[in-house]
Amino acid sequence: MSEITDPEFLPVMESFYTIQGEGFYSGTPAYFVRLGGCDVGCVWCDVKESWDASQFEWFSVKQIVSEAKESGAKVVVVTGGEPLMYDLSKLTEEFSRSNLQVNIETSGAYPLTGRWDWICFSPKKFKEPLGEFYAHSHELKVIAYNKSDFKWAALHGDKMNPNAELFLQPEWSKEKEMTPLIVDFVKRNPKWKISLQTHKYMDIP
Ligand code: SF4
Repeated sequence: MSEITDPEFLPVMESFYTIQGEGFYSGTPAYFVRLGGCDVGCVWCDVKESWDASQFEWFSVKQIVSEAKESGAKVVVVTGGEPLMYDLSKLTEEFSRSNLQVNIETSGAYPLTGRWDWICFSPKKFKEPLGEFYAHSHELKVIAYNKSDFKWAALHGDKMNPNAELFLQPEWSKEKEMTPLIVDFVKRNPKWKISLQTHKYMDIP
């Protein structure tokens, strides 16, 4: 459950300037703001330390945006955790006063708040996404952890708006097993593309 909090303040687990490793913006230098808190509960989650928001310090949206601007990045990625557990309208208002592009990565389990240049929607089996994300997202990214995930991906892909980019990405620990299956799937379903977690190959955050 999300709690009602002051949208001028958000719990930040970490923020850092790196290269976006996956999805449509793969290879793009980007400043990441990772908000703490997630109750989606993916068994394979690689940031389980983000789940408990009470461990993290709350920062003002002014400070978050000011530090993003100072990084020199042109693109900011707001991620988590599940960032939409919080009302992000004040955060994106503050970003709109900067010249930064602001993207979000979300499971779609909570209502969409804020105005985003790019929405990467990555639904999870562990908590049903809300219907609004199919119409409003620019990108669908489905993580393939086992064979049943292809059918599940296709169900979500069919609901997406026609302009959305569709990506299948192997879960990191299953990368060897799932990548050949993803290659086959994408060849048979060419509206889909492959996303790899290239930051993990590069050993960067
Ligand atoms: Fe982890 Fe993301 Fe799943 Fe939350 S939604 S459990 S942060 S992978």
